[in-house]
Amino acid sequence: MKNFDFKKALPRAVTILLCIFFVAGVFWGIDSVLNMEGTLPPPYEAPKSLSPRPQTPQEILTYLNTSITKALNEKPRFSSSTNCKLNGYSFQTTDEALLTEVAQHVGGSVEKSVEDSFLSVSADFGEDFTGKVNPLRLAADSLVSAECLCEYYVCPVCGKEDGVQPEECPECGNKDAWEERCRDEYTITLLIEDGSSAVAGDFTLRSPQEVATIIRDGAAGFFSCDEPKLQYRNAQITARVNRLTNQILSLSFKKETVVSLNLDFTGDFASLGIVPAEIEAEDSYTFDFTWPGLSLSARELSLAPKKTEALVAALTCSDPVNTTVRWSIADESIAVVDSEGYVKAGKNTGQTTVTASFDFQGKTYSDTCTLFVKESVEGLDLSKRRLTLSAGETAELKTKFSPKKATIQTVKWYTSDETVATVDPNGLVTAAAPGSAEVYAVTDDGYFKATCRIEVKS
Ligand SMILES: [Zn+2]
Repeated sequence: MKNFDFKKALPRAVTILLCIFFVAGVFWGIDSVLNMEGTLPPPYEAPKSLSPRPQTPQEILTYLNTSITKALNEKPRFSSSTNCKLNGYSFQTTDEALLTEVAQHVGGSVEKSVEDSFLSVSADFGEDFTGKVNPLRLAADSLVSAECLCEYYVCPVCGKEDGVQPEECPECGNKDAWEERCRDEYTITLLIEDGSSAVAGDFTLRSPQEVATIIRDGAAGFFSCDEPKLQYRNAQITARVNRLTNQILSLSFKKETVVSLNLDFTGDFASLGIVPAEIEAEDSYTFDFTWPGLSLSARELSLAPKKTEALVAALTCSDPVNTTVRWSIADESIAVVDSEGYVKAGKNTGQTTVTASFDFQGKTYSDTCTLFVKESVEGLDLSKRRLTLSAGETAELKTKFSPKKATIQTVKWYTSDETVATVDPNGLVTAAAPGSAEVYAVTDDGYFKATCRIEVKS
């Protein structure tokens, strides 16, 4: 009889056992992964605008003017910036070489002269800036188009954001429809008809005499010029307005100008005589507005009992360092807040509001954060992951929350196919007709999802 070779058998047995554990582990792992469902994002809801969204060109103009008037009355900080570039020259003469030299000498000098001619205006918080910016005097019928937009799009798979919806997500390749959302601010774009006299009315545009002076100053020693003819084209006004407060954030004006004039060359270039010329310029003028205010680092905060977390208040006023922020909490039995914004939860669960405020030039500005003191839900499971029923039969599904002491243990129930199985608000499943469906629950706290596959036998 052959002896049982314990020394040889043992490693083999261990190897086989390990293999079994490994294979079982892999299957168990796959099953867990397949059944593991993360948090569903909360359903999207855009914050409501302060006033109805303007639709027609007239409504958009009126809305923009209301927000400009509001700024004139409430006096936020205000500053302007300008940008100008000369796009090209054309001279009607045959002496190309000489003109190239002239253009090189004169170009930079004229450009600088044009830039220097812009007046930069500004006003600090509370300072009057009447006359530096005005409500637009445009008529709706001088507009080629008027748009007021806040839409942007989000890929439902990877969360990438874009202003337009692409055919295919550049990040994850998803081809399904993106979710439409609305930013807190409107972007308003007005295109003005070429040659419209309305263009000059609203922004500090220069008269032909002023333009001639600017060019003459820049070209001193090279040529002098008569009064030019000015033609405006592609004039456009854009504005950003916070739709939740109707506070204007920026207002800018952009246009192209064609300047036609006769250059009378002097000095070294006098032999050129009088040369008709055209200069093309593109310029923009932007006003920026900063509104005093305070915003908290979170609109909602969840804390487990006895835990502490800091809220940060960001100020947009001129001197945030020397401004005292006051902190308060509506229900001190739930949590307390100190003078630095540290929120400390008590031992009770509940909901309350934290407020931060400060005074600036006789007005109080504040922001609030909703505080939840609770044991947050971290996961959800169901009493059964698969159920086989006959039509007409019922079965009850129970929820299992983790952690077990989670404060808000409520869910909403859904079915993927009502013709196969329905589910009531208590998790009672009723088989309707043969087929398969998924019944799932989503937690009210944290939006965790757990699914049970239902087979209804024929
Ligand atoms: Zn994507």
